[in-house]
Amino acid sequence: MTCPNCSSALSLRYTLMYEVWKCGHCGLEMAKDIHFDTGFSSALNEDVREDALKNLRLHNFGKIIPFIKQHFAHHKPKGIEIGCGYGWFLAASKQQDLHCVGIEPETRFNAIYQKNGDEVRNGFYPEILAPTEKYDFIIFNDVLEHIPDVNEVMQANHKHLKPEGLLIVNIPIRYGLFHCLSIVLYHIGLPSFLDRMWQFKFHSPHLYYFSRQNLIEIAAKQGLQCLEIKALKVIDTQQIQNRIGQDKSISKMKMLIMSVFIYCITPFSYLMPDIYCLFFVKKG
Ligand SMILES: [Zn+2]
Repeated sequence: MTCPNCSSALSLRYTLMYEVWKCGHCGLEMAKDIHFDTGFSSALNEDVREDALKNLRLHNFGKIIPFIKQHFAHHKPKGIEIGCGYGWFLAASKQQDLHCVGIEPETRFNAIYQKNGDEVRNGFYPEILAPTEKYDFIIFNDVLEHIPDVNEVMQANHKHLKPEGLLIVNIPIRYGLFHCLSIVLYHIGLPSFLDRMWQFKFHSPHLYYFSRQNLIEIAAKQGLQCLEIKALKVIDTQQIQNRIGQDKSISKMKMLIMSVFIYCITPFSYLMPDIYCLFFVKKG
């Protein structure tokens, strides 16, 4: 296996619940031998997940939606969100008069979509789209890092965008504060934090950790040019316990220690953001 970005050799970097391999040239990290659980069951505690993430995601959408509207200042665009989950982005878009439909493989959110009147198809991207379907924008909110074959996905993004269309990738990246601290803890014999960053205990773990430059290069190969990069908020300090408690297997003592630790370092997270939103435009 070679690097999907630059085709250089990969070498084993971290031995976690799954092996993580790193490119010696561009630094892209990949998890090998991941088994995607289509039964969608894991150590993920769905009861606290919504509380842990909703306000944070809405806060970050407040930086993304105005950019989309500004880009399409002369007409009302139609977009598609890949992996729309609870439908938070669809709802935020609707509130701001932005038309967005969704694709979601898990069927358990369908009642929410029905209640909100959202147009969502159950299935996997890009197979679920007809070859001729085109959108003004395609958005991935914490999703691109979970999909196998990033080059194939990027090729599909180019194919399904209209000319001058926008690709929006909201994603955790390498070398953010929490990612770096997890690596330090791994090297002193505490691998569970890095396992958590890769979400290896959950049914949809990360397959990649990209840098911003990795994403810019992978998109450029498919004719998608980076327009803008925005740092996003990584954690809601009101929801630290729920965020950690997403892992049902964690002990109360460990949760307490981690909560205090994360509360203390969160004010510094703006110096090394873990989440970025990259905006690309289709050229050619
Ligand atoms: Zn590489």
